[in-house]
Amino acid sequence: MIEEKSQNFIEEIIEEDLKNHKYTQIITRFPPEPNGYLHIGHASSICLNFGLTKKFGGYTNLRFDDTNPVTEETEYVESIKEDVKWLGFEWGNELYASDYFETLYKYAIQLIQEGLAYVDDSSSEEIASLKGTPTEPGKNSPFRDRSVEENLEFFTKMKAGVFPDGTKTLRAKIDMAHPNMLMRDPVLYRIKHAHHHRTGDKWCIYPMYDFAHGQSDSIENVTHSICTLEFVPHRELYDWLIEKLRIFPSKQYEFARRNLTYTITSKRKLLQLVNEKFVDGWDDPRMTTISGMRRRGFTPESIRDFCERIGVAKRENLVDMGLLEFCVRDHLNKIAQRRMAVLDPVKLILINYPEGQVEEVMSENNPEEENAGGVRPLFFSRELWIEREDFMEVPAKKWFRLAPGAIVRLKSAYIVKCEGFKKDDKGNITEVHCSYIPESKSGSDTSGMHVKGTIHWISVPHAGIAEVRLYDRLFNVENPAVDDGDFRTHINPDSLRIIKKAYIEASLKEATAGEKFQFIRKGYFTLDKYSTPELPVFNRTVTLKDTWAKESKK
Ligand code: ATP
Ligand code: MG
Repeated sequence: MIEEKSQNFIEEIIEEDLKNHKYTQIITRFPPEPNGYLHIGHASSICLNFGLTKKFGGYTNLRFDDTNPVTEETEYVESIKEDVKWLGFEWGNELYASDYFETLYKYAIQLIQEGLAYVDDSSSEEIASLKGTPTEPGKNSPFRDRSVEENLEFFTKMKAGVFPDGTKTLRAKIDMAHPNMLMRDPVLYRIKHAHHHRTGDKWCIYPMYDFAHGQSDSIENVTHSICTLEFVPHRELYDWLIEKLRIFPSKQYEFARRNLTYTITSKRKLLQLVNEKFVDGWDDPRMTTISGMRRRGFTPESIRDFCERIGVAKRENLVDMGLLEFCVRDHLNKIAQRRMAVLDPVKLILINYPEGQVEEVMSENNPEEENAGGVRPLFFSRELWIEREDFMEVPAKKWFRLAPGAIVRLKSAYIVKCEGFKKDDKGNITEVHCSYIPESKSGSDTSGMHVKGTIHWISVPHAGIAEVRLYDRLFNVENPAVDDGDFRTHINPDSLRIIKKAYIEASLKEATAGEKFQFIRKGYFTLDKYSTPELPVFNRTVTLKDTWAKESKK
């Protein structure tokens, strides 16, 4: 599943460039369009761009590619900054392509003056109809041979707001028969009387991506401009503009977009899920947005680890969601505090434990890491909550948990033997009765008994109450984006299960935002933003084992 890491072909290029003294310092940029929240695909691009300058020195700019006034919002700018910081990266400069509108305008004038750009009165349909096809050349626009003076006059008037939207464009004058369709007199500027989130109503002409992106790179002296594969055909135009304008020669390199199974990595579709209320906002814990993953309890370390493992590829492919979950599990196993929580409770009564007696038993906070967090006390008493699924009236084969006559260890406490149980009229188990073996206390066990099963528990009078949200993958097919028609029909109806009343050990009542827990035998959890002091709400970040592994091998 994981593609060969071509020891990062971009690193090889940079090494070569430094060796040849082509540049003295490496500058990269991460250039999001602020039209949505960042997702796991962006994380890959962030790790790549920032990773390169971390490795080779220099810096990475955070540049908002905000040349399209209609879809962009300040809320998105703020979320993007927060996400990049949270992932653990510091940018060299915070920049906006819109800061370059003035410079870009001057570049356009320069091209006009040198006979390399012209104002076209054709409509977008007319332009398209003269474009030709990959196998047939296009035709020159009737406005292609306007004089420099006329072009200057019209372009200035376009800027001054004289013309309505869509009535004129500025186009590069290259070659209508060029084998690369993008070189057939590409549009550089369009008229759009729209309010921009930063420049307000100052501009009514906006540069196209191709005229803004490369020039922005160049203005910032970006040495290696890394983008995804769909921009390969744009590279020729990128180079043409830089050459004709005689500006800093930034170079574009492409890598494969990173897409993941069982999720969506398109801001447009994610926005649709948000707008149509399939999810609880951009940070819904089922969304593979960075904010969603953060809320769900993923760590920046695990996301960086994932990006590192998938590396940089030259071919598109789907990365297994299981790998991301593996990285999360792997990191949380090292850092999460072990706690007890009972999600589907049934009462266990220790018939030979004195009524009213309470003792403290010690339990390890994290046995995976040496001296990680030591131990914590747990209250132990006659009545305990255990998981309903840990008792079977008629035990299955190889059942090592509770059943009539069976013995198990209560984690960090005593060995108990099941002596009986109670049922209600409907046949539901309401109580499990056990005797406990006083000399079997964890740490000082002199009982000489061996038990195969260990279960978790919570002392009834000391238990706290919490809401627990169990998340699963948002989609139930590997590639929900494939039929563009309706990816929404593939939403996993079981992607969220809410347990209104779960029992948590006393120490969890003091849990704070951002803390990571392993609920023993149940998975990794963290507090949700909807938690209150009265009712903590826990999100399940990931299960302890990959429950989808079999599914994806089918
Ligand atoms: P979307 O289709 O989700 O809107 P985009 O490419 O339009 O994505 P931008 O804001 O333009 O989003 O992207 C910022 C940077 O992140 C670009 O350099 C882009 O190439 C990169 N990027 C976006 N999606 C992915 C992805 N799935 N894998 C790798 N890089 C990505
Ligand atoms: Mg985009």
